[in-house]
Amino acid sequence: MNTVQPQSKHPKGLWVLFSTEMWERFNFYGMRAILTLFMVNSLMLGESNASIIYGGFLALCYLTPLLGGFIADKYLGNRYCIILGGSLMAIGQFLLFYSALTFDSSLESSKMIFWLGLLVIVFGNGFFKPNISSMVGSLYPAEEKTKLDSAFTIFYMGINIGALLSQYFVPLIADVVVDEKRDVHAFKWGYLIAGIAMVLGTLIFMFFKNKYVVDPQGNPIGGLPKKSKLEITDEDQAKFTTASLTGIGVLFLVLFFTFRYFSVGEFGFSNFEIGTLVKGIIYPIIYSSGISLALLILMDKKLTKIETQRILVIYIVSFFIIFFWAAFEQAGSSLTFIADNQTDRNIFGWEMPPSMVQIFNGIFVVMLAVPFSMIWDKLRANGKEPASPLKQAFGLLIMALAYFIIAHNVKDLGNSGLLAIKWLILLYFLQTVGELCLSPIGLSLVGKLSPKRFASLLYGVFFISNAAGYALAGTLGAILPATGDKHKKAEELGVNLQDVLDKKVTLTTQQAELLSKNQIPLENHSFAGFEITNLYEFFMVFVILCGIAGVILALISPKLKKMMHGVG
Ligand code: GLN
Repeated sequence: MNTVQPQSKHPKGLWVLFSTEMWERFNFYGMRAILTLFMVNSLMLGESNASIIYGGFLALCYLTPLLGGFIADKYLGNRYCIILGGSLMAIGQFLLFYSALTFDSSLESSKMIFWLGLLVIVFGNGFFKPNISSMVGSLYPAEEKTKLDSAFTIFYMGINIGALLSQYFVPLIADVVVDEKRDVHAFKWGYLIAGIAMVLGTLIFMFFKNKYVVDPQGNPIGGLPKKSKLEITDEDQAKFTTASLTGIGVLFLVLFFTFRYFSVGEFGFSNFEIGTLVKGIIYPIIYSSGISLALLILMDKKLTKIETQRILVIYIVSFFIIFFWAAFEQAGSSLTFIADNQTDRNIFGWEMPPSMVQIFNGIFVVMLAVPFSMIWDKLRANGKEPASPLKQAFGLLIMALAYFIIAHNVKDLGNSGLLAIKWLILLYFLQTVGELCLSPIGLSLVGKLSPKRFASLLYGVFFISNAAGYALAGTLGAILPATGDKHKKAEELGVNLQDVLDKKVTLTTQQAELLSKNQIPLENHSFAGFEITNLYEFFMVFVILCGIAGVILALISPKLKKMMHGVG
């Protein structure tokens, strides 16, 4: 009902959560801005592997909230989990800092520290993210739940203010050029300030939580969970039989090996190359756990027909938005590589660092979040608000349009032409419009459609669908064809890369080794049996995936609306 109006006062606790989340997202998005560039330029992992690792890392960050939510509900409560998560993320950033500090003296051990840092961040995010969002919800007693939409709009702004600040400052100090060459030693400063931001966010939460993060009676929110059995009703708790848990365990294994086979072509483990490990272990874990958990919930005998149908709506929507996030999360990988290697980033005479181009998402969210929530309110007041699945279908279609426009602008670039930065800015603008149709709405839809006892688990399924989107983003980012810089570099080494990719010439072993050492791909990548030979085809993959998903979701949305039985 409410948008951000001065008269609708929000509890002070919202501002504590806002600032905490703002600094946490500063830490996360600051790191994300330089992550793939660091992997390519310092750790020498190659663009394709960097995209795969980036996708796997983000995906795990959205799998662990299930664990963080579970531990909070059962043992630690929201508050401790936020502090634990924040501290872990800060430690993770300092490990990345250390890796970036030492990579040129000991590459292999730096890589190990880098993996460890990412793993610590994965768990930190899992403890932090679900708990901070659920605390926003618990600040408002039942009679004030109408303020929730506006509370989440404000919270979403906090997320993106943090994101855009970091995407300004981190690139400025960490993505720098010295003597016309990238300074590969500067990345460490990015991780360092990301870590400091996380410490700051955690401290803000620790100091202000007792005073402000309280209910209207002044009692602290998010403390330790209820201990006494008497206080927990059947309504609060999800229970599963041993038989269904065992069945799901077996299903998980079957799915895991099936996905593994499709992803890397083997059931067993013979290839230990990093990209293959991520594609063959992490991605299958994400896909299989999403499906298994979804089915486990449906096996509950006490579900009524209406509850089951509502849950099915959550699942169907979760499936379609996978394609949205897969396109969206090109930001930190392929789009950053394109910004780096084949874009004219001159803005009024100033050369923008490539990792800063990601900032436009945050800028546009901050500009558009409030107008968007006002538009939805207005439409709702007139009884014309589209049902949530239809809004999400719009989100997907706008994403398809965004990639369609950029695809047409790269069509005639060839191997040496530069893309004007305005096209990337337009892409981010449209992506953001799509995001605002799809992301905040999804979160509240899950809340409204879930039976109470399954709320956390269904949020888990929903987050895993984001994770699946990121895993797919990794797979898709990795098919990015050779950008302009690779052709130039190959030419310097005396090889016409286009001829190599077109299989017009065969390289000597020496030449092949030389190109590989310089991280230049020797053949085009394929997706679903199609070889991707240029940027136009690469972008069209997203047009097709998001376009088809959007059209189907729009077509079935009247049916989904019925299955929601008056909710959402
Ligand atoms: N940008 C938002 C955030 O970081 C949403 C990301 C998502 O839901 N996958 O919280």
